Amino acid sequence: MATRLKDPSKKYRRFKPLDLPNRQWPSKTIDKVPRWLATDLRDGNQSLVDPMDGEQKWRYFQMLVKLGYKEIEVSFPSSGPTDYDFTRRLVTTPGVVPDDVWLQVLSPCRKELIRRTVDSLKGSKKAVLHLYLATSPCFQQIVFGMSNEQSKALAVECTKYARSITKDDPSSGVEEWAYEFSPETFSDSNMEFVLEVCEAVKEAWEPSEKQPIIFNLPATVEMSTPNIYADQIEFFCRNISEREKICVSLHPHNDRGCAVAAAELAQMAGADRVEGTLFGNGERTGNVDLVTLALNLYTQGIHPGIDFSDLNSVIDIVETSNKIPIHPRQPYGGQLVVCAFSGSHQDAIKKGFQAREDSKATREDPWVMPYLPLDPEDIGRTYEAIIRVNSQSGKGGVAWIIKRTLELDLPRGLQIAFSKIVQRETDMLGRELLPNEIKELFVEAYHLNRNPRFGLVDYTITTDRSVSPNPATGTTDQTQQPAQQPQPPGRTAPSRNLRRKFTGVIEIDGHEHHIEGVGNGALSALAAALKNLGIDLDIADYKEHSIERRGGGGGGEEGGPKGRDTQAATFIECTASGQAQKVWGVGIHEDVVQSSLFALLSAASSFLSSRPSTPVPFRPKRSNTLDLEAGSPLSGLRNEVEGAPESGEDTVAKLEAHVERGEQAEQVNGTGEEKGEQVNGTREEKARVD
Ligand SMILES: [Zn+2]
Repeated sequence: MATRLKDPSKKYRRFKPLDLPNRQWPSKTIDKVPRWLATDLRDGNQSLVDPMDGEQKWRYFQMLVKLGYKEIEVSFPSSGPTDYDFTRRLVTTPGVVPDDVWLQVLSPCRKELIRRTVDSLKGSKKAVLHLYLATSPCFQQIVFGMSNEQSKALAVECTKYARSITKDDPSSGVEEWAYEFSPETFSDSNMEFVLEVCEAVKEAWEPSEKQPIIFNLPATVEMSTPNIYADQIEFFCRNISEREKICVSLHPHNDRGCAVAAAELAQMAGADRVEGTLFGNGERTGNVDLVTLALNLYTQGIHPGIDFSDLNSVIDIVETSNKIPIHPRQPYGGQLVVCAFSGSHQDAIKKGFQAREDSKATREDPWVMPYLPLDPEDIGRTYEAIIRVNSQSGKGGVAWIIKRTLELDLPRGLQIAFSKIVQRETDMLGRELLPNEIKELFVEAYHLNRNPRFGLVDYTITTDRSVSPNPATGTTDQTQQPAQQPQPPGRTAPSRNLRRKFTGVIEIDGHEHHIEGVGNGALSALAAALKNLGIDLDIADYKEHSIERRGGGGGGEEGGPKGRDTQAATFIECTASGQAQKVWGVGIHEDVVQSSLFALLSAASSFLSSRPSTPVPFRPKRSNTLDLEAGSPLSGLRNEVEGAPESGEDTVAKLEAHVERGEQAEQVNGTGEEKGEQVNGTREEKARVD
């Protein structure tokens, strides 16, 4: 087992910073997009355990073009047939390399290799020949055994040779040549020596303002804090002659994990171009990540010129080509970076999106969002990815998912109640729940698809003239309260202050019961009717809102009218008389009154299910249970309902079927006078609740 060094200073010497007292870059900002060079197919590829084959490179190249890269380092042609042949295939296949895209290839400073490299490009429109030579004492001495003078001479000689077979050679077969020289290990080199070499190389190449030479200044190995790299770049930019004929390029590696910072500070220090790879693949810890750099600019309001609006498909290609997964916490691209698990984060994000919605913000409006520096939509992420629910999550995230999947705005109390149900489930499963699972849990918990214990078979609500009007005295029946709405024109309000009578047939645990009750409104009338059965619930909280559903109500039939259906969602919290226990019920229906009735039945079902006797079938205290075999007018309806195919589709399809039939029955059974009252009553209930 290795032992820890007591004093690492003997083994590792501190990096000696450049003395640049007059540095300007700290007060600069990045306000322009650099030239990008994607070196995935060269620097990235050469670092892979299992390098890409020709087909993978081919697909990767096309992706880079599609994303918008104009300078692409495609190969190291002298390294072997794979890279050479790939370069030839690019050059000779018509239409693959757009006219404005530069193909860049790398070669060491050896004449025969330069020759082969240049040959690989014959027939291309725009080509960058990239030569490199190490300039650090470490590499010169240990790796190559060369002095400064020898290094410089070799750089000049190879540049001259390169020039003679490229831009000076009319038969080179390339329309436009550019030249890039990298003093490899730049950041570990003596800056004066680097300048000396680059001046000599520049003189050998003779660039112009129109066709500048590219000096690529790599942190071949990242060895210092990014500010020191920035100092080195500023020193170079200030001291190289004919700066206007030079493109200063960066090539930061990520050994200390600061490549992105180094590239950004070095741009502030005057660099014009950045070389890197998508998601930072490359030797050891990788090259600088071009995705992060581009999206860092994007979130500062500067379009990087690269299109990452479908980041997932980029990730797909990068992962399959490199055979290296993107880390879940990778900036921008990681699976988890637009997700929030913690309750407080979810709550904040939900509020942020709500505020955006409330202010009718468009996609272009200023992005102000807690915890999310980037609109996930801008990189092709959906809301589902944003808020994830595990045992750490709170009501906010759960409510958000219900809002997005079912369009329901849960009242706070229901958020708390339902998040407890979710928490139980995540604890039980020991994993996070997917949005769809949460939706289903909600539908199940509040009986939106199917109420296992209660079915409303048939009902009528009539005005009860048998009692005198009951002034609203702190009633809990909220449907009665807001009666400020004006009467419809030409209509009197004969029944405004009269009580409502609920008469209906309700199915509980497979048995139908005839129930009746009177209350201040439809809801309290049903509550009273249930009370008569021994289900004693008080309504403690009532909320409702409308839902716009696209193309709803048509049973999903093609060609039907594609309007928007408005439905009402009702949330009712009930307390059982004499108990502290509270239950929530949820109802959805086109008719707001029926929606509230369903909500009450949903609560009643939850109440029954939560009783210790569960799942013993409910037996009412006082039963008007109908004898269904006795040929009552309702038995036919019941058969019809039971015989109907289970759609299992629409949340309330079955209940709706019941109700529609109930309405028919209502009309058949009602006397003329009653019928008129009923209609008035129903409409008025609606108006009152709306
Ligand atoms: Zn590199």
